Amino acid sequence: MTQDFSMMQIEMVDLKGQYNKIKTEIDQAVISCISSTSFINGPAVKEFQLNLEHYLGVKHVILCANGTDSLQIAMMALDLKPGDEVICPAFTYVATAEVIGLLGLTPVMVDVDLNTFNLTATAIEKAITSKTKAIVPVHLYGQSCDMEPIMQLAERHNLYVIEDNAQAIGADYTFSDGRVAKTGTIGHIGSTSFFPSKNLGCYGDGGALMTNNDELAQKMRMIANHGQEKKYHHKVLGCNSRLDTIQATILNIKLRYLDEYSSARNAMATFYNEALSTIDGIIVPERQSKSTHVFHQYTLKVKNGKRNELQKYLSEKGIPSMIYYPLPLYKQEAFQRFVSADFKLDTTEQLCDEVLSIPIHTEMNIEHINFVCNTIKFFFD
Ligand SMILES: *Cc1c(COP(=O)(O)O)cnc(C)c1O
Repeated sequence: MTQDFSMMQIEMVDLKGQYNKIKTEIDQAVISCISSTSFINGPAVKEFQLNLEHYLGVKHVILCANGTDSLQIAMMALDLKPGDEVICPAFTYVATAEVIGLLGLTPVMVDVDLNTFNLTATAIEKAITSKTKAIVPVHLYGQSCDMEPIMQLAERHNLYVIEDNAQAIGADYTFSDGRVAKTGTIGHIGSTSFFPSKNLGCYGDGGALMTNNDELAQKMRMIANHGQEKKYHHKVLGCNSRLDTIQATILNIKLRYLDEYSSARNAMATFYNEALSTIDGIIVPERQSKSTHVFHQYTLKVKNGKRNELQKYLSEKGIPSMIYYPLPLYKQEAFQRFVSADFKLDTTEQLCDEVLSIPIHTEMNIEHINFVCNTIKFFFD
């Protein structure tokens, strides 16, 4: 039996389909926000802050304008000096390392683990010098780094840990004593993004910081608000980074669906894993025992140099896919001054050549998944 898939539209993310399901709620709330004209610091902003604190089980959430700002504000709050070293992965979105360099600090890039795509305490430890002041683990694709050994290492060396949680909001990490914590609440500071395509996305830009430390919370709140605690009295140089009321209104609604969205993504991932794990030539993402996965991305490793060919084939069949990320950060022109010419991280380079993220989003149905799986199977047959 043949099926006509010519009408099937598969997207990397389906923001429209997701919006349509909650349209009535969203439209009403947004219109009411506009009518109130309290566009900045309206009641929804504080409300969302409290709701997110409650959801994450963290003492303080500081809302800001985007995920990149949240990383920058976190870094500014630590009072680091030019030349101080901050350890981060080279296999990540540019923002992670960009803000380090922007503040005159030195990003020290380390390799990630081939199976988890994440930093490990072992790799971090080798990169620690007398100048190291902080570590930025990135919970890539939606699954937590193994945080317990990273926190122990940080404590031994007196280092700050800033979790880049832009891709993993909602994921749970389990410590060896059974304690469970949301990613973003384990390090001294956590940062996240509400960019529309993130797991908890708004309808524009947005970001947040998380911490259980009162002093850091106060400082970050001040930095995000022009370095002032009292209006027109500026203690430190800060920036202007706010989440606006309309975005907070939308996020307040979408936060209620976040766990449902994560479950939907997990169901897709399970289906993909079952259908694709038997194919020679690709490796499906592994779920780790210490962390739940929120599948911001479902990322395959394609062996034998076939990745680009598979991507082209999928594209011809109308299936989008993305390469997160095609280049290690140390190969980017902007980062040349931070690395020597022969600097190289083997696993990072291998992953840049092998990874392929295929569609996973809250609105995918079984026909979509079947079509994607069958197309991939056909390619390898
Ligand atoms: C999206 C993302 C950011 C930046 O978020 P923006 O809101 O786009 O500034 C930072 N780090 C990671 C890992 C991301 O995926």
